[in-house]
Parts: sequence; C-alpha cells; structure tokens
Amino acid sequence: MQKAVYKFGGASVKDADGFRNVGSIIKNANIPQLLIVNSAIADITNQLEKVVSAFKNDQIEVAQELLQKIKIFHFNIAQELLGENGSSLIDNLSNALVEVEWILEEPFQDSEDYIYDQIVSVGEILSSTILAAYLNHIGVNVIWQDARNYIKTDNNYQNANVNWSLSCYLIQKDLQPLLDKYIVVTQGFIGSSSENFSTTLGREGSDYSAALFCSAIDGDQVTIWKDVPGVLNADPKWFDDTKEIPELSYQDAIELSYYGATVIHPKTIKPLQNKGIPLYVRSFKDLTLPGTKVQKDQIPLPIPSFIFKVNQVLLSISPKDFSFIIEENLSQIFSLFHKHQVSVNTMLNSALSFSVSVDDHPTKINLLIEDLKLLYKVKYNKGLELVTIRYYDKATVDRVTVDKNILLEIKSRYTCQLLMKNNDSL
Ligand code: ASP
Ligand code: MG
Repeated sequence: MQKAVYKFGGASVKDADGFRNVGSIIKNANIPQLLIVNSAIADITNQLEKVVSAFKNDQIEVAQELLQKIKIFHFNIAQELLGENGSSLIDNLSNALVEVEWILEEPFQDSEDYIYDQIVSVGEILSSTILAAYLNHIGVNVIWQDARNYIKTDNNYQNANVNWSLSCYLIQKDLQPLLDKYIVVTQGFIGSSSENFSTTLGREGSDYSAALFCSAIDGDQVTIWKDVPGVLNADPKWFDDTKEIPELSYQDAIELSYYGATVIHPKTIKPLQNKGIPLYVRSFKDLTLPGTKVQKDQIPLPIPSFIFKVNQVLLSISPKDFSFIIEENLSQIFSLFHKHQVSVNTMLNSALSFSVSVDDHPTKINLLIEDLKLLYKVKYNKGLELVTIRYYDKATVDRVTVDKNILLEIKSRYTCQLLMKNNDSL
C-alpha cells in the first residue's frame, strides 16, 4: 500500500489562494496513506523572530503590536477560507496565540534561545491549524496532530537534536495507526524537549521533519512542494541560464546542500538514504512538471551545478613566530571556530598559514578574530564571493572567473571551489 509524506512550505500557503491550491493537490493526491507536514505561512517565521527581538530589547509594545498583526493576518485567511463556518478555527488560532501573549506578559528572564523556540514555533501551529480546518471544510477527512508529541529532542533550543529512537517509537505507536483512517496534518520544524517545552530544529527545518516522519512510518516517498520546478543547477538569483536536474543521487543532493544550495535542507537526505526512500521536489504551481527525483542510484549529474555564496570573509591565520602550522594549531583554531559558532565554507592549509572562508557575520567574526589574535597573526579580506562548482570542467571555471581575481582555488575530483573578488573592487 502506498504511503507518502507531502511537505508544504511557507511559499505554498502564502495566502488564501495558496491554501486552496494546496487543498486541491491533497484532495486529488489519491494516495492511500498520506501525511502532510506543513511549515509557517510565508514570512511569518521572520516576523515571529522580530517579536522575539523586540521582546528581548524590552520593547514590549512593539512585540505586542507585531503579534497582533500576525494574529489578524491569520484570522483574515481563516475568514476568507471558511467564511461563516470559521468560528471554531478562529478560536483555535486564538488559543495557540494566547500562549505567546502570556510569554510577553512575563519579564524576559530565560535564555533567548528558549524564548525564541516558545514563540517562533507558533507559526507552524497556526498554518497547520488553518490547513487542517480548510481540508475538513472541503470534505477531506483529515486529523490535525501536534508534532511536538512525536518529534522529541534535547533542549538545545533553536537547533535541537532529535532523539530518533524515541520519536520513531512515538510516531509508530500513536501516529501510524491514524493513517488508516485519516490524512494526518502535522508541522515541520518543531519538536519538544523531555520537559515538553517547544523546540525548533533550525531554520528551514521542515524538510528534515518530513524525512523523519517518512522514515518512521516506512513511507514510499517524500514530496517537497516548492515554488520552483525542481532542483536547479544554479540559483536563478545569480544565474540566468539555469537548468532543471531531473534525477539526483542522495550523495549529490547532500553535497549540493552542504555547499549551500538552498533547495533542500541539508539534514533531510540522511534519514531517507538510510532507508532508500526517494525524495521528489515538485512545483506546487505547475503539476504537469515532473520535478526532481532524489534517489540512491549513482547517476552523475549531466551538467555542472553552481552554488554561490556572497559576502564572504577570507581569514588567513599564521603562527606569530613564523613556525609551521601543525595539527596542534589546527585543533586550537577549529575549537575557536566552534566556540564562536562560525562555520567554515572552505579552507586551505599551507606550511605557514591556514586560510578559511566564512560568512560575514560581523559580531561573530569580530569576536572570533579577537580570540584568534591572542595566539596567531590574522589577516582578513572582506566582500568576497565563493563559487562551488560540482562536476566542473574548464569551460565552466573560465565562465565564472571572468573579470574576477581568484584568492583561493580548491579542486577535488568532482568539486571546485573558487574564492574571488571582482577585479574592479580590488
Ligand atoms: N518556518 C520555518 C522557517 O521558515 C521552517 C521551515 O520553513 O522549514 O525557517
Ligand atoms: Mg520556510
């Protein structure tokens, strides 16, 4: 019997028409067992983050106003979708928001990460509540389930680690049986700690949730519904001439997301790969398009893929006494990167210096540099671009390096990384 997980992200439910479109995809899915994983409406997670920072900065009225706007926005969509039948939906949305209103009435006394998760997680609750109510309204037999009862995590708020064996057990015991009778609607991105506080799995983490749920129910496929036709070989934001990739191996999908391709959340693939479950990326705007299938077969990509990261800083770190960089230095350097939570996008070691490219996050980087400078000489260069090319060839390298000055070039068998600066800005 076919069993699937469909994940609908924020862009698919950006307004009432979005919900109608998602409703029609689900109604026509014709899959005997279907689990829906939904994330917050379009920009809502960002807006909830603003509520948290206003609250933290003691601007309680600003925080309350922002929350009020979020509330009205959801009420309007509920009203538009359900009209006069929407009163119990509005009650449910109000109840979810009351918890956040209560938090804003207390002083900001817990850790910011904890407060963040208690507030930001409501975005997923709101959108999935609307989706479930709307589906019932159009005659689809659905049941809403709180993902926090299933996805159990540690209390590493904002980036919680999933307790997989417990989550899997709970999903199999309590959620799986529901699929015989209903389409289940639940949330991505959120979970709960052993004390039952809300946790989140990291921004854009809903894809990962979908993979976890699918693995636990032994599903046959996950489909991530997006506003792009599938996985592309480059981000259209940086490249004119993008091409769709019809089939992709797990390995390539992991590599591409590792280097920064944003179409699939990096943690998503592993749980699927472990069980050989295929992942489809399809367009919710055009159901006639086949999309991309990510699966186990090792099909090398037919075309090079490009991943751009702008706003890079190159740090060159060398011992103060001109000695060689040895393992001990590297381990010290890495532990400082870890301490400041700065992730390395690419690196190169030579005898006398260690070069690293990182995202320019001014506060974090300045603190890191201060710490590094206690032990090393540090030079840095800002405003750089990092291009990663998977399945590169000479022509593609030449094409992206026109008018660029290359500061770092790293090649392995399949992947080439170039850290560059525009010639005119040197
Ligand atoms: N709503 C969350 C975010 O925007 C999770 C997700 O969309 O996957 O990051
Ligand atoms: Mg999102």
